[in-house]
Amino acid sequence: MSKLLIFTAPSGAGKTTIVRHLLEKFDDLAFSVSATNRERRPHEKDGRDYYFLTTERFRELVDNGAFVEWEEVYPGQYYGTLRSEIQRLWEAGKNIVFDIDVRGAKSIKEAYGDKALAIFVKPPSKEELFRRLRSRRTENEESLRRRMKRAEEELKWEHEFDLVLVNDYLPKTFEEAEKIVRDFIEEDC
Ligand code: ADP
Ligand code: 5GP
Repeated sequence: MSKLLIFTAPSGAGKTTIVRHLLEKFDDLAFSVSATNRERRPHEKDGRDYYFLTTERFRELVDNGAFVEWEEVYPGQYYGTLRSEIQRLWEAGKNIVFDIDVRGAKSIKEAYGDKALAIFVKPPSKEELFRRLRSRRTENEESLRRRMKRAEEELKWEHEFDLVLVNDYLPKTFEEAEKIVRDFIEEDC
């Protein structure tokens, strides 16, 4: 039976970096591609990083009950996990990895219980988080401000999840993340 590994954190903490590493390391893991109406970044690919949708199409899918969970993570920016995506990966016999915001992570955990492990990725400090967010150079000033404001709030959610993974020195983080995956996948439940 497939298992679900949910990585959650404030924007800039390192979720995407960690999740990418794990997908390379473990053949039986697959990424749950979320849907969003936000603009595609230059290096992103539709269907690989996200399903990029118009706001109209996103709302239509919400009305049709197509999402397990969805959130307006930033004003006017929607993100959600499609039921069809989980179904697809489930049928392929994969363990599923999620990179989603704190509220979405709680919803998935509630929906799947012991089959799911929710991991909060914690930056070493707020200052380092903001530095990483800036150094990624994906946001304009307005978007950066929005993300930093939301990050302050999301940092308080640390205690809501099964595990906390501190992302300070990347090689050590990768090692710890691999152990978390191995232990959870091998565990009977
Ligand atoms: P998230 O997906 O949580 O928004 P990213 O994985 O995009 O975060 O990481 C944000 C930025 O921080 C990226 O430029 C990434 O290369 C960098 N980064 C991630 N982990 C570390 C780390 N341990 N030390 C230094 N920089 C990091
Ligand atoms: P970004 O725009 O940086 O790719 O993502 C912004 C935030 O949305 C991140 O915290 C990311 O984890 C979250 N996110 C991505 N996909 C989903 C999803 O399907 N559901 C929810 N609730 N959040 C998501």
